[in-house]
Amino acid sequence: MSELSANLAEIEARIHAACDRSHRDRSSVELIAVSKTFPVESIREVAAGGHRVFGESRLQEAELKIPDLPSGLIWHFIGRLQRNKVRRILPLFPVIHAVDSLRLADYMDGVAGELGLFPKVFLQVNLAGEDSKGGFDPALLREQVDELMALQRVEVIGLMSIPPAVEDPELSRPWFVQLRELRDELESRAGVAIPALSMGMSGDFEVAIEEGATHVRVGSSIFGKRAYRVDGELG
Ligand SMILES: *Cc1c(COP(=O)(O)O)cnc(C)c1O
Repeated sequence: MSELSANLAEIEARIHAACDRSHRDRSSVELIAVSKTFPVESIREVAAGGHRVFGESRLQEAELKIPDLPSGLIWHFIGRLQRNKVRRILPLFPVIHAVDSLRLADYMDGVAGELGLFPKVFLQVNLAGEDSKGGFDPALLREQVDELMALQRVEVIGLMSIPPAVEDPELSRPWFVQLRELRDELESRAGVAIPALSMGMSGDFEVAIEEGATHVRVGSSIFGKRAYRVDGELG
């Protein structure tokens, strides 16, 4: 078994254990292998083991890598979204994790119509009010949830958050609880299901699963340490 396949198998085992602890079915959690900064060879190696779902955070990089990889892979865009890139992002990425304004969602809805696409999106929430991160202020999201859920093409499937980085994963738990509770509140406010929660990374995905994550975004624990940071994004 290659080193990357062994890493993936270990993450799988930890996901299973977290699901067991929280009486959840393994199939209720999607593992997104975050391949940003890693070469196509590494992605191919992980895909060869049967893994299909990958995450990238920078469009230019993804545009170079995706055409060189098997066409059956499913790509999630997890990076900060720029309006002027939406037209190129939508055809490559059926799922987008960091929609952070109604204006952007509305614009995406129009572009998706022109392109004949139905993107699934997460609304990013900036729970800690950090200046360095994008995301809705929870109060604004409460005000705008009806309009967001009424978009024609863009399907809001859930909420996403990147809590402040910490050493001890237990310190992430309160943020994950907050995201889940906000989701529950928005569901009753809007009267629609918002089933997904994208939360948890290499350092804290098990705690996120215990608190209801449906999508965990795991990079370095599968691919290894990243050699460089992606501008405006997480290392
Ligand atoms: C890089 C990144 C991840 C993965 O981080 P790791 O700590 O390597 O698992 C998850 N989510 C987002 C938004 C990222 O930019």
